[in-house]
Amino acid sequence: MTELTLINPSDETVISTIPATTVEETDAAVARAVVAQRAWARLAPLDRAKAMRRFADAVDGAVEELAALEVRNSGHPIGNARWEAGHVRDVLEYYSAAPERLFGRQIPVAGGLDVTFHEPIGVVGVITPWNFPMTIASWGFAPALAAGNAVVLKPAEWTPLTSLRLAELALESGLPEGLFQVLPGEGRVVGDRLVEHPDVRKIAFTGSTATGTAIMAKAAANVKQVTLELGGKSANVVFADSDLEKAAATAPYGVFDNSGQDCCARTRILVQRSVYERFMGLLEPAVQGVRVGDPNDAATEMGPLVSRAHHNKVASYVPDDAPVAFRGAAPDGPGFWFPPTVLTPSSPADRTVTDEIFGPVVVVLPFEDEAEAIELANSSRFGLSGSIWTRDLSRGIRVSRAIESGNLSVNSHSSVRYTTPFGGYKHSGVGRELGPDAPFAFTETKNVFIATEES
Ligand code: ADP
Repeated sequence: MTELTLINPSDETVISTIPATTVEETDAAVARAVVAQRAWARLAPLDRAKAMRRFADAVDGAVEELAALEVRNSGHPIGNARWEAGHVRDVLEYYSAAPERLFGRQIPVAGGLDVTFHEPIGVVGVITPWNFPMTIASWGFAPALAAGNAVVLKPAEWTPLTSLRLAELALESGLPEGLFQVLPGEGRVVGDRLVEHPDVRKIAFTGSTATGTAIMAKAAANVKQVTLELGGKSANVVFADSDLEKAAATAPYGVFDNSGQDCCARTRILVQRSVYERFMGLLEPAVQGVRVGDPNDAATEMGPLVSRAHHNKVASYVPDDAPVAFRGAAPDGPGFWFPPTVLTPSSPADRTVTDEIFGPVVVVLPFEDEAEAIELANSSRFGLSGSIWTRDLSRGIRVSRAIESGNLSVNSHSSVRYTTPFGGYKHSGVGRELGPDAPFAFTETKNVFIATEES
């Protein structure tokens, strides 16, 4: 493939055609990054911090522009896209403090002084998916740059436009040439080359578990570090003692946000049997009330799916004889529209319960008691997020501790705050992004001992 054809998911028009980066161009970008990184790492911490703040300011001035690009390229509702662009600015601002806070330690030892340093790894490859193109990009590039690294970023084939604009904004704000480069292109060409390139010392990947597994295996050949943020099939556990109205009213938000193209989506609603019928009665109008339509309309809550290929994949999980409890609305074509869909499969072994569908499809299953709720929640090979609805705070904490998952919320569906760590258990990933420790994940720890005793 020599070029990428970008399609607007809400009307299927061609936005543009852009050249796909080749292996040779990838190698040249890595060579530029090596040079830029050495100079960047030598800068005083305050100067790196100031450069990051100028980049954040540039993003702040471009929030509307970035949001409009994401609406066109990814079909995100404008309200969501504005939030995403603002989030990138906030992430940059937050990590602009990191260059001056990469504290090492002084460790008590006999015969001298022992200190640790956190040094940049070098060139970091960031490989991103199409569901949240700019926010997920910033979770990689902001802490990596703050820790003194250079970044070569490979955005997903379908959605490179906001990442490309962010690279321009970095340059316009004064970040050195070569320090943050975005290479649109194919995963099997550019992504694969970044994973095997000896000068790329770490890969921060977000995407499917299948691709993440392949990247981890390949990175092993070079003993290359990886962080992997992969799939999810998170549980939304609703106990009988919860505020059932609130649990039902918020459940669509927990799963249909971004058209369900969200690794944190609570795609398995587990409801205590004694309130199952009542909960379903409350959920139906909430699902039918989701406003699906024109992403440019500020009132829209759910846009289209990202592409025809992805639409076909999601649709394959809802054949004509699927156990559909009820559905919301969706516009007719053109556009990759799919209605919010609630399924009630008869068995927890059904593939709609086990697979990450990555669309606006949720399954509802009953449970008897707390033990069964935990067992069902943990029966997935994934472990990224989850919600627990209960008025019993002890139970909320107990069940949170028992669920094998990286991010849980009690009486809420909130998973992502840039100030707190984010990542998965089991097949949902390796390592954590965001939070105060993220820059340290882009460093090598060096220990130096200085003898003070005369021998
Ligand atoms: P999906 O299946 O949802 O499209 P992927 O996990 O395949 O998600 O894609 C996530 C990112 O990984 C994209 O940027 C894609 O181009 C990239 N990618 C795909 N295959 C590879 C690979 N073999 N090596 C490196 N990156 C890849």
